[in-house]
Amino acid sequence: MAIQSVNPATGKVIRTYRAHTPEQVTRKISQAHKAWLSWKQTTFNERAALLRNISSVLHRRKAELANLMALEMGKPIKQGIAEIEKCATVCDYYAKNGATFLADGPVKTEAAKSYVSFQPLGVVLAVMPWNFPFWQVFRFLAPALMAGNCGVLKHASNVPGCALVIEEMLADAGFPEHVFKTLLVSGKEAGAVIENPLVKAVTLTGSTSAGTEVATKAASLLKKTVLELGGSDPYIVLEDADLELASRVCADSRLINSGQSCIAAKRFIVVKQVEKAFTRLFVEKMSAKKLGDPREEDTDIGPQARTDLRDQLHRQVGDSIGKGARLVLGGKIPKGKGAYYPVTVLTQVKKGAPAYDDELFGPVAAIISAKNEADAIRIANDTPFGLGAAVFTNDLQKGERIARLELNAGSCFVNTQVMSDPRLPFGGINASGYGRELGLYGIHEFVNIKTVYVK
Ligand code: NDP
Repeated sequence: MAIQSVNPATGKVIRTYRAHTPEQVTRKISQAHKAWLSWKQTTFNERAALLRNISSVLHRRKAELANLMALEMGKPIKQGIAEIEKCATVCDYYAKNGATFLADGPVKTEAAKSYVSFQPLGVVLAVMPWNFPFWQVFRFLAPALMAGNCGVLKHASNVPGCALVIEEMLADAGFPEHVFKTLLVSGKEAGAVIENPLVKAVTLTGSTSAGTEVATKAASLLKKTVLELGGSDPYIVLEDADLELASRVCADSRLINSGQSCIAAKRFIVVKQVEKAFTRLFVEKMSAKKLGDPREEDTDIGPQARTDLRDQLHRQVGDSIGKGARLVLGGKIPKGKGAYYPVTVLTQVKKGAPAYDDELFGPVAAIISAKNEADAIRIANDTPFGLGAAVFTNDLQKGERIARLELNAGSCFVNTQVMSDPRLPFGGINASGYGRELGLYGIHEFVNIKTVYVK
């Protein structure tokens, strides 16, 4: 079987890769397991030094890697550079803090000595998406390697070039051979990888359907999973919000990665008193964004990653209009080549419309009217998802109360956009998945929290 990398800006095939056969996959997993038997014996200092090396490699190659992302999935070049720099940051972060996070934790009991020790599990399978082809992988890889695990990567089928270069860079950085292997296989073949007894756990970032399938398979074999499944993040704008700030942050957040981010703002829930003023400012900010060739420096929005995804998004927009939403910006597929979709704003979005109920993974904003604060919170939580949420208000105490107590999501921000940060745990609840990546909690997901008791 072949895996094709297609440039979404032109529709042209960049390169065709031969998929790995089941025998090759089994061999690669065995190699990773063998590598793990030595890797788990290395010291934190040794692992940290290698993570710092890979951070330097990332810095050195950032222009080339950003170009590769632009080619394979259409990410605007300046955003690609920022993504690679963030990957370097997460490597440096775990190089610096990993040993502290994984230090033995003494617990006083009747024993002469009792403590908690964090031991690696072995080979972990990472099923990753195309939207942040490096960041999604590195935010798993840095803590996993620091904890003494090894990894096999099943990357999205449209970014095989990115997948292979990660393996190559680890070798460049001096990591022992086989600690991290790329498997060129389709989603359908991931089940067989999970079945391999040398694969001890699975992490997946992607759609709810892929997550459910992978988690079901892993659960049948009693293998742990971490799932990061996207969301329909609500941003509440209250009557006392700084509307200039709110409209700018909301537009920027909606358009992260050409709208294809799990934590992009998706539903804008605005209280009636300020809805008109917010909408005017928001449309102004959204209209100012430049759609174009991802390889040009001043491009804000590139093509969508694949034509089928762009077409699905357009159907969701059409269906939302069919359910009463008003199109105030964009909404028409541009003429010409490429998987482009314009910046789009829908107002008067109601329950029952895809823009209210589902995740819209592209540059489409849904403005929903709320009667008051309580109604806005109700609407924000009226979703199967629970990844991120934000609230805009000049009353910081109120904002913090809403973020802490009222909004049902894994990350709740006040007066700014939801971001992932190596220092803070990241993940969702409900249909957005479970488990946490990053920070202290992220590095503890794939370890045996072992009790050691010496009488
Ligand atoms: P998928 O969830 O299908 O793809 C994500 C990853 O999962 C890819 O590596 C994919 O492989 C793999 N995969 C897909 N199906 C299975 C399966 N049954 N078993 C194991 N692995 C599987 O996302 P799509 O690319 O199709 O995008 C569809 C929607 O998913 C988007 O519109 C968006 O809503 C959501 N999404 C969310 C992301 C997030 O950051 N949370 C990221 C990407 C998408 P392969 O490419 O070979 O199919």
